[in-house]
Amino acid sequence: MVHCPECQTSLETIDDIEFVEMDARTGFIRASKRFYTSNCAACGATIGSGVAGAKANGGGAV
Ligand SMILES: [Zn+2]
Repeated sequence: MVHCPECQTSLETIDDIEFVEMDARTGFIRASKRFYTSNCAACGATIGSGVAGAKANGGGAV
């Protein structure tokens, strides 16, 4: 079970996590890839991030 580091809310289901799609304007991710952050639905703290839209490279991105 994952807990939010900010508010300690238990993130048990997908509904507890808000996925936000970011524009790749920062320059380090381009082309067809999409950058996502996963945020706590309760307080909005960023819990994790990842790239979608391209084949994951082992899913080990932190
Ligand atoms: Zn939270």
